[in-house]
Amino acid sequence: MKTVLVTGGAGFIGSHLCGFLLSKGFKVIAMDNLATGGLKNIEHLRSNQNFSYIHHDVSKHIAVSEELDFVLHFASPASPIDYQKIPIQTLKVGSLGTHNTLGLALAKKAKYLLASTSEVYGDPLVNPQPETYWGNVNCVGIRGCYDEAKRFAEALAMAYHRIHKLDTKIVRIFNTYGPGMRKDDGRVVPNFITQALKNEPITVYGDGKQTRSFCYVSDLIDGVFSLMSSSLNEPVNIGNPDEHTILEFAEIIKELTKSKSKIIFKPLPVDDPHIRCPDISKAMKELKWKPKVALKEGLSSTIEWFRKN
Ligand code: UDP
Repeated sequence: MKTVLVTGGAGFIGSHLCGFLLSKGFKVIAMDNLATGGLKNIEHLRSNQNFSYIHHDVSKHIAVSEELDFVLHFASPASPIDYQKIPIQTLKVGSLGTHNTLGLALAKKAKYLLASTSEVYGDPLVNPQPETYWGNVNCVGIRGCYDEAKRFAEALAMAYHRIHKLDTKIVRIFNTYGPGMRKDDGRVVPNFITQALKNEPITVYGDGKQTRSFCYVSDLIDGVFSLMSSSLNEPVNIGNPDEHTILEFAEIIKELTKSKSKIIFKPLPVDDPHIRCPDISKAMKELKWKPKVALKEGLSSTIEWFRKN
């Protein structure tokens, strides 16, 4: 039985990943400091004898007694509202946390996977974004704490690969949604769904012409698992290339929830990327992966989950 450490294991994506790995027969250790994650996300896993949870901030030295086969570094605030509230912790988990988890993987002779982000492309000047695009990031802007932390994390993972021959992988995660998102995390999916379900105004920032491409969480997890099982060491985009304007997205949520909400316009946050869409040719070719869940299908399950929770 292989043992995996998932940092950020109590977060939205981390907890889905833990559940998936348990179902594949792995022993899973989730580590989290609950800065943005929640124990509620892993409640259903606690009775599984192959699952354990360690409360720890990975920006500090990590001690794990078990042998490890994989270290998957998913710990980080990821919503703009969250990381702008705690920018120093965000920079620390991307830098010190990545250093500590890489060191741990090296000591345990484990494989390593870094959860990176489409934010490494900043406000992109090419669309869709292939992995070869170097990005357009404002390092001193309000999103810089997240973008630069992840860019540093990628550079550090590649250095460990080149110098220590560590088997590192980097997944660049594009906007992901699904059951388990925090309703107050400030991102567009929870905001629009909770507003629509309460028939309150749906808050579109700017003119709503900025685009995003949304990937259902089970597709993302499939992609991460394929990458983890592959021999690739260079970054791979995982996301759904079905690109929509935010205004279109608001209309879709309104339709699916049968809401009476009005759509209202609020100021566009500083440095909000005006376009975002993954080029997934590499994942399709190298991992034989592509997303399967259509937007309306994934949103319907997510809306159902928000209704119940
Ligand atoms: N957005 C919006 N209304 C909201 C929340 C977000 O119009 O209530 C917009 C935001 O300005 C951005 C897009 O939706 O253009 C996605 O924002 P999110 O915070 O989900 O994540 P991002 O992709 O910017 O990291």
